[in-house]
This record gives sequence, structure tokens and C-alpha cells, in this order.
Amino acid sequence: MSLLNKLIVTTLPLVPKFIVGKFSKRYIAGTTLAEAVRVIKEHNSKGMMATLDILGEDVFERPAAEALRAEWPRVLDAIRNQGLDSNISIKPSQLGLRIDREFCYKNFKSIVEEAAARKNFVRIDMEDSTTTSDTLAMYRRLKAEGFSNVGVVLQAYMRRSEEDVKSLAKEKANFRLCKGIYIEPASVAFQGSDEVRNNFVRLLRLMLDQGSYVGIATHDEWLVDEAYSLIQTSGLKPDQYEFQMLLGVREGLRDSILKRGHRLRVYVPYGDQWYAYSVRRLKENPQIAGYALKALFRGNHY
Ligand SMILES: Cc1cc2nc3c(=O)[nH]c(=O)nc-3n(C[C@H](O)[C@H](O)[C@H](O)COP(=O)(O)OP(=O)(O)OC[C@H]3O[C@@H](n4cnc5c(N)ncnc54)[C@H](O)[C@@H]3O)c2cc1C
Repeated sequence: MSLLNKLIVTTLPLVPKFIVGKFSKRYIAGTTLAEAVRVIKEHNSKGMMATLDILGEDVFERPAAEALRAEWPRVLDAIRNQGLDSNISIKPSQLGLRIDREFCYKNFKSIVEEAAARKNFVRIDMEDSTTTSDTLAMYRRLKAEGFSNVGVVLQAYMRRSEEDVKSLAKEKANFRLCKGIYIEPASVAFQGSDEVRNNFVRLLRLMLDQGSYVGIATHDEWLVDEAYSLIQTSGLKPDQYEFQMLLGVREGLRDSILKRGHRLRVYVPYGDQWYAYSVRRLKENPQIAGYALKALFRGNHY
């Protein structure tokens, strides 16, 4: 990480909110559901699927988690009524995982039921390593209760992920595979970028060999190429996997994946809790923070 980027990351809390707001425009559909619907329509019309995320995480008060839970049926209705090609992605800590596991499970279950009634699908996002076991346990319990419209995420930087893939073989789990975004210690997560990349490929191969459906979530061209090879050698049809990318990131790569005939889903976040999400994006990719700040001072919009 360059000195400038390091400086940007460490001084982020001091950056005025309006500057972060300018930066976040590219990554966030807006603050309202109507704005998210507009962005999804636009992406659907270009042949992309979407997954919709209501921003909000690390909720520590029950009423706040319940308020967020109550938003989801409205979202599912909008997806159905507007004929959108979109599922939904939810962070466990939004629904109270850090308050009480059972409370969180009940919240999830009610949304998965609402989604099933509308023939929709819920992806349980994966957060930091303190939540991995509880999140996987929740996923298993939903599957054991007979829900097939739910999927989970595994992170390639996690040392345990290989075991997790194997232990989910019976369920023919529906996975999203990503590198992992949280800062984790070396005891639980690979630290080197090559180690993470290699593990990503190993996990993807395992998942496909097990007959799992995989959302291949990356903007790393090297990994996308590796995925193309695995898809080809496994003889998969385009409806047996999908690529996934974040809104506003590497749109050129996104278009080339689509042009090759693969399916691609864009992660579309919206909501008034945009600040925490944007700060995470900036920390994840300080280089972009540098570009964003330069553009801002030049008065450019991006
Ligand atoms: C659809 C989707 C869902 C995800 N869900 C989760 C989840 O549930 N849990 C979790 O821990 N992580 C999640 N992630 C984040 C993921 O773990 C990685 O942190 C993130 O995708 C960056 O890794 P990469 O594979 O794109 O490779 P990188 O090497 O980080 O990125 C490759 C290139 O893409 C570009 N790029 C990447 N990220 C950005 C960005 N934010 N802004 C601008 N350019 C960028 C850069 O040019 C970079 O060089 C998700 C990612 C995606 C795409």
C-alpha cells in the first residue's frame, strides 16, 4: 500500500461526510427503495441480474433490527410488482446476530418465508470471522427446515473455508464465493494475495465438483480467467453458475463477462446507512480513495 493510500485509510474518520458521500455515489444506488428499483431496472435492461442490499450492519438494539427486518417484505414486493430480476442479500448483524442468535434466526426465517412466498431467494452475506460459525449454523438450520431459496457466502481468505465447503457437500449448498473483505488475523485468514487467489480457485473447483451452484464474486481478472477455465473443463451450462460484481466496480470487465455469454449479478446496496458501507469500500481499495479525492479536488464527477 502506498504511503498516500495508507494516509488516506488512517485519516478516513476525519474525512468530511460530504466527501465520502461524493465517493459513494458510484457504489450505492441511493437512499430510497425507488432509487434502487431504478438502478436495478437499468442493469436488468443491459442483461444483468441484481441482488439488493439494504445498508445497515452491526445493529445492537432489537427495535432497530426489527425495523430493518420489516423493510424486507416491502423490498420483495417491489421486486415482484416491478418485475425486477433481483434477489436479496442480507447481513446477519443487521438482523441482530450480535444481540441474540435465536432472535436473528427468527428474523431471517421470516424473511426467507416471505421470499419463498414470492419465489425469491435470500443470500446470507458473510461478515467477520466472529460470525462465521453462527452464520453457517443459521444457514444449515434453514435448509434443514426445508427452505431451498437460501444461500450462503464463503470467503477464500478464511483458512477454515475448505472444511466448510466439504461439510456443506450434503446440502448441495448454494454458495457465493468471494475473497473476503474484513481485516482478519493470520491465525484465521491467509494474508498473502497469491494465497487467497489460489485458495479461491481451490474452493471454486471443490464447490463445482460437489455440484453446488456458485456465485463467483470477484473483480479480479486473473480469477475470472481461472473461473472460465474451470467452467469449461466442468462442462457447465450458463444457468449452473453466475458471476457477481459490486455496483460501480470494474464495469469494463463486467461487460466482457456478459459478452462471453455468462450470467452476471450486480450487488446493489441502498439506504440511509451509506456511510459505513462507503468507508469500508474506501478501506478496501485505498487506491480508489486516492482517485476519488483527486477527482473531487479537480471538481470532476465520476
Ligand atoms: C457481489 C459481491 C458480494 C460480496 N459479498 C461479500 C460478503 O458477503 N462478505 C465479504 O467478506 N466480502 C464480500 N465481498 C467482497 C469481497 O470479499 C472482496 O473484498 C472484493 O470483491 C474485492 O476482491 P476482488 O476479488 O474483487 O479482488 P481485488 O484484487 O480486491 O480487486 C481486483 C480489482 O478490482 C477493482 N476493485 C475491487 N474492489 C473495488 C472497489 N471496491 N472499488 C473499486 N475498484 C475495486 C480494483 O481495480 C482491483 O484491482 C463481495 C464482493 C462481491 C463482488
